[in-house]
Amino acid sequence: MGCIFCEIVAGRRPAHVVYEDAAHVAFLDKYPIDEGHTLVVPRAHHERITDMDARAVEALFGAVPGVARSVMRAAGAVAFNVAQNNGREAMQIVPHVHVHVIPRGAGRRAGWSRRAIAADAELAELAARARAAP
Ligand SMILES: [Zn+2]
Repeated sequence: MGCIFCEIVAGRRPAHVVYEDAAHVAFLDKYPIDEGHTLVVPRAHHERITDMDARAVEALFGAVPGVARSVMRAAGAVAFNVAQNNGREAMQIVPHVHVHVIPRGAGRRAGWSRRAIAADAELAELAARARAAP
């Protein structure tokens, strides 16, 4: 069906797997933001976490700390970022749910997109809209 991550999960495409269990596979990102950048992927294909059963989302994120400890140790990192993008507009490139675990090392410069500071009123309005959402 042409999903790169489904092919990795099925073993039809090579990947540097760092962890796997009955429901998840974690492998190194081919285009790392920093050393040890890993993707934790559910075996079942869903585009967004909002397409998944809540328990499956819990299990997915439950796998993250162990993977983070492993890749931090492997990369000699002292910190890490966790990121999870849903939808192309949110910079999700592969439309199969994945959690980014990005180890960050002492003395290494962490790349992260530059962000503008939003006005307080804009934030308040956005928060109100989020609270009103079903
Ligand atoms: Zn897939």
